[in-house]
Amino acid sequence: MKNDAQHKVTGIGIAPGVAIGPAFIIEQSGVPVPEYDIPSVQVERELKRLHGAIAKVQKHLEQLRQKAETLPAGAQDMMLLLDAYKGMLSGSRLVRGVEEIIIKQRINAEAAIQKQIAALKAGFAAMNDPYLAARADDVGEVGTRLIRSLLQQNYNPFAEAPEGCVILAEEITPADAALMNPGRVAGFATVLGGAEGHAAIMARALGLPAVSGVGALTHGIRTGETVIIDGRQGDVIARPDAATLHHYRQEAARKKQEDKRLKTLRNVPAVTIDGKQISLQANIELPRDLDAVFESGAVGIGLLRTEFMFMNRPTLPDEDEQYAVLRKMVEKLDGIPLTIRTLDVGGEKLASALGSAVGESVNPALGLRAIRLGLKQPKLLDAQLSAILRASMLGPVRILIPMVSSVAQMNQVRARVLNVERRLHRRGIKLKGLPPLGAMIEIPAAALVADALAKVCDFFSIGSNDLTQYTLAIDRGDDRVADLYDPFHPAVLRLIQFTAAAGWRANIPVSLCGEVAGDARATALLLGLGLREFSMSPLRLPAVKNEITQLSLPQATDFAEKIMSKTDQTEILDLLMQKFSGVRR
Ligand code: PEP
Ligand code: MG
Repeated sequence: MKNDAQHKVTGIGIAPGVAIGPAFIIEQSGVPVPEYDIPSVQVERELKRLHGAIAKVQKHLEQLRQKAETLPAGAQDMMLLLDAYKGMLSGSRLVRGVEEIIIKQRINAEAAIQKQIAALKAGFAAMNDPYLAARADDVGEVGTRLIRSLLQQNYNPFAEAPEGCVILAEEITPADAALMNPGRVAGFATVLGGAEGHAAIMARALGLPAVSGVGALTHGIRTGETVIIDGRQGDVIARPDAATLHHYRQEAARKKQEDKRLKTLRNVPAVTIDGKQISLQANIELPRDLDAVFESGAVGIGLLRTEFMFMNRPTLPDEDEQYAVLRKMVEKLDGIPLTIRTLDVGGEKLASALGSAVGESVNPALGLRAIRLGLKQPKLLDAQLSAILRASMLGPVRILIPMVSSVAQMNQVRARVLNVERRLHRRGIKLKGLPPLGAMIEIPAAALVADALAKVCDFFSIGSNDLTQYTLAIDRGDDRVADLYDPFHPAVLRLIQFTAAAGWRANIPVSLCGEVAGDARATALLLGLGLREFSMSPLRLPAVKNEITQLSLPQATDFAEKIMSKTDQTEILDLLMQKFSGVRR
């Protein structure tokens, strides 16, 4: 039965703005499957791979089920479906059949799954029963999830997305988001994901309105139907009635006007009323963001996340390949300083090229990631450092190390940089000097020893996203605890203040490059806490600049003092809103 009534579901608004367009629902199908023989000694290993993937898919299905459980009536059949999927993964004909194919035919698990799905589907089809035909689709869906998990590689889910569409998906990983063409997509919504996960950061960087954490998102919405995304309220509205559509069209037009006005600030200097110059720089996720950087008027790149070089590919980029990418960027920047962060994978940011190098952790966010991985796999780190050092010969570059937790780690990194420099020298590549080496301050331990770290670092960059996650013990990508994720929690603010003061005493620059840097409501507070450098998504920079031009430093300091005397988070947020000049994000 066709339902034409307006249908609204709500999640967390992760990137502001309004998107209106036809829904494009990302299905779990369409993965190209490789087939290859395996020697008999590797059968055991292949079965293990299969069971690893089964465990992962079961966990993912359980997450979706828990999400569905929180929904009012109507999601019952979705829960039943998810239960049925889970059932298919334990001791079922699907799993037994795949095991048998791997053992008897000695082929890889992905191909074995595909064969078993085909066999089961053929069996269902022969029975000519509509109920069983639907079960055949379910088997296909579960099999595809397994294959995707085994391949650890994302196919391009957006290849078929029509112009101006609104993407609706279970989850958008950072690797998926990197494949999204913002020119073709109006916005997106997902079932899973918290406010500060990397899909959220990508959405803001791309300027796409987005909502996450929407249970039963695609339930009751069909591909092609008109959908509105309200990225501020966290609403997804399908089949809007005329009044709703009118309201949102006006809202979208208003936002466009405001963006236009803010763009005129491009060449206005970021100077406070009392004449203090503030450095506003840009974060970039992908080289294609560079154009937005130039448009924003940023005076540098305060954070280049290099993860993109390692995503959506089966092999690691070698030094030369990394150098080629960095060289192009440095040349394009033509003298604008570039801060390059070394690889920060692990936790929620997985790179398929690393395969088993990252491994499985019970607590991935606390596991082998970022610089910990680099120091355990020095070849990986050295190749990147070598590429960065070579790029530093072409323009102003700084090296930024993620997830530093101790002075010893920084000393180890510096030793590796010196070693890489010596090796380059032996290859005939002679540097005139080493680029500044800095630490991300994003683990509470690093903030608490910031005074000691300042002695071994040339600069700091505060990563408020992870600092909030680790200080409050809140998974930044988990929608179920997203309401507790608060970068304005007094504990986080004290660590930021302490770090800024340590940097100031040691006379080293301290920047803040987490998402709060781009939140204009926070600008007065952050200035008052002693920060003078910020790096953010280029699209958010004009609103922050607008705020700076309306503040004086003594005013900001008084305001920060007032905030730091408060412990109630609601009161803090109220004060921030009162102070905020009112240009909406
Ligand atoms: C941060 O943690 O604040 C940060 C800037 O790094 P990322 O978001 O890439 O972890
Ligand atoms: Mg971080």
